[in-house]
Formats: sequence, structure tokens, C-alpha cells
Amino acid sequence: MSSRRDFLQKISASAISLPILGGTMSIQDFYSQPYQGPMLRVAIMGLGSYGNRVAEAMQSCKKAKITGLISGTPSKIKEWSSKYNIPEKNCYNYETFDRIKDNPDIDAVYVITPNGLHADQSIRVAKAGKHVICEKPMAINAKEGQAMVDACKQANVKLLIGYRMHFEPNTLEVIRMRNEGEFGKVLFFQGLCGFKIGDPTQWRLDKKLAGGGAMMDIGIYAINGSRYMVGEEPVWVTAQETKTDPVKFKEGVDETIQFQFGFPSGAVASCLSTYSMNNLDRFFLNGDKGFAEMQPSTGYGPIKGRTHQGELNKPHVTHQTVQMDEMAGIILEGKKARVPVDGEEGVKDMKIIDTIYKAVKSGKKESLNLT
Ligand code: NDP
Repeated sequence: MSSRRDFLQKISASAISLPILGGTMSIQDFYSQPYQGPMLRVAIMGLGSYGNRVAEAMQSCKKAKITGLISGTPSKIKEWSSKYNIPEKNCYNYETFDRIKDNPDIDAVYVITPNGLHADQSIRVAKAGKHVICEKPMAINAKEGQAMVDACKQANVKLLIGYRMHFEPNTLEVIRMRNEGEFGKVLFFQGLCGFKIGDPTQWRLDKKLAGGGAMMDIGIYAINGSRYMVGEEPVWVTAQETKTDPVKFKEGVDETIQFQFGFPSGAVASCLSTYSMNNLDRFFLNGDKGFAEMQPSTGYGPIKGRTHQGELNKPHVTHQTVQMDEMAGIILEGKKARVPVDGEEGVKDMKIIDTIYKAVKSGKKESLNLT
């Protein structure tokens, strides 16, 4: 979806209205009416594949716009600055971006680089006095994630993680149903997340830049999904790894991990994270009075699924457009996300990943304390 008109057509195709964060206005009204309020001015760091998707989606944002670029590739700066009308004075590389602190045109930096670089880059952004939006996984372990949280606190800036599903209408509908007891007592969650990864030379298969393998990249959706679908924090983890190709998936780069969680209520989760199978993007939540199943559950959408009451039919909205408008509301107006997207939320996922890796090594049930 590239233009605002396409975007509005997609939304207005549905009669269903959804409130935009913390307000009473429906998403449909929000995107069809002029907006006069504050605008979050964002520099994108890392002009790669996902950076491109975010930048395109932000063209339809009402509360956020791109005003700066940070890249190690001069040709991309040239192309992007002309495409998005960014002046040269707002363009930086990885050596110069600390100077962003003197740039009044930029409120926040969206870090969309390889995982292993997130912590250092986010901490530098915080030290430059700008808000940080950082892609998932926020870092490569909980220690790094916590250092990011501390640095942002110290600099008095916000830290938000790019959890786009936390604003997705069908996902929020399942969470609403669960909160209102429509599934009864939640008993079981299944999250299957994976794809077949190509190019063996890419950073996603480099332990230093990726921090791990499929778990960091795609398994994190099943982890995060377990938490927002069940509505509790896991208290124990078991995990088993299988590796069919040790040449492609070197030491420390996981190919496939199955993992299980136990929750305080007694609910359990069973999940799969893999870089070796396609067609895996499925959530299933079961309670003693009903169920929800979503497939696709975390892709770029439309998210599809059904519950014991029928089809999930909330309208598809470009995830990254809504995410950035909602994040602007959080940063500029102090709004609160219904499912948190703050640094502490990111650290919880990192602690779980650390514990999954620990459980793979120990072969034991490992306990977790996230509260
Ligand atoms: P890409 O490889 O497509 O892009 C990463 C960009 O980071 C590069 O193009 C480059 O941009 C910059 N970069 C800086 N240093 C390096 C380096 N040493 N090696 C490679 N690239 C470098 O990756 P993605 O865009 O797919 O992923 C980036 C991040 O976004 C990851 O953390 C990933 O998990 C996350 N992501 C999130 C998604 C979501 O749905 N929320 C979906 C996809 C990715 P430049 O040339 O401008 O410096």
C-alpha cells in the first residue's frame, strides 16, 4: 500500500470502527480528518529492507514524519533524501550521528539495524537526548536490553520497541475477548513461527550481528505472543533444539527450537521457532469456554483468524503506519499502549530468550521471574 488514498480505501472498506490509542475517535475518522496536533519527527537509522517498509508506511502517518536519515551507505542517503525530501543537514552516518543532539528537527531515532548493533546505537541516541524507537529484538541479551532501559531513563528519553502487533486490531480484539472472560479460563497457547532462510552469508546467520538465530528473529513473535495472548508472564521454560544444517547454522545460531512455558495460572504454551520451514505463522489460544486461532498471526497482514464466536473481522491497517502514529501519541502526549511497547517489555522477552538458550543447554526446566 503506497498512497494515503489506498490506505484510506483499505480502512473504509470496513464499517467497523476502532479507537485510536487512548481516544474516542475511530481509526477510520482519525485517518480521514485533518490533524492539527503535535508531530513526531523521526530519523530512520539503517536504510535496509525493514527500514524501507517503515518509511513507506510512514507516508500515511498523521502524527509522525521522517525528518532525518542515518546510514552507512552514501548512495542510499542520496536516494532517500530526494525521495522523502530530507535536507542534507539532517543526514548522518554511524560515525557522525551523535551530533544529532544539536539538531532541533529530530525528536526520535528509529533504530532498524542488525540486532547486535541495537544496544550501542540506542544508548548513543539516548545520550544525544533523543527518544529511541528500536526494532525487535531490542538487543541480543537481557543485560544489553537493561543497559538500554537505564541509559534512556538517565537521559530522560522514551524507549519503545517496534512491537507492531501490539497495535494490530484483530490481535487487540482477541486480547479484549480474553480480558472479558469470553474464552473462560485460559488453558493453552500454541505459537508457530518460522520461515526458510535463504542467503547463508546474511547478517541474520552471523552470531555477532544477529545474537542467535531464528529465535532472535522470528521465535520472538511466539514468545511475545504467548505473553499477550495468555495475559500472564511465564514462570518456567523447557526447550529443545534441532539442527539439520550445522554448516549454514553455526555454533550459537539456532535453526529450530521447540519451547514450552508454564504460567502461574497453570496455563501452558508450546511453541516452535525455525529458519527451516515455511508456512509457519500461527497462533492458537484455548480456554475452557472458547478458542482463538490466527493464521497469519504476526505477518504484515491482513491478519486472519476466527474464534468460537466466528471470523475475526477487524479492518486491516498497515501495521507500521498505526504503530508510528500510536508511538507518536505515547512519546508526545504520554498515551499508554494497551499492550506495552516500552523497554521493560523488551527486556522481558530478552530474559525469556536467555532462559530458552539456557534450557536448551541444560535440558532442564528453568525457572523465570519476570515480575
Ligand atoms: P537489512 O539487512 O535489510 O537492513 C539492515 C540495515 O542496517 C542495512 O541495510 C544497513 O543500512 C544497516 N547496517 C548497519 N550496519 C550493518 C552491518 N554491519 N551489516 C548489515 N547492515 C548494517 O535488515 P532488516 O531491515 O530486515 O532488519 C533490520 C532490523 O529490523 C532487525 O533488527 C530485524 O529484526 C528488524 N525487523 C523487524 C521486522 C518487524 O516486523 N518488526 C521485520 C524485519 C526486520 P545502511 O546501509 O543504511 O547503513
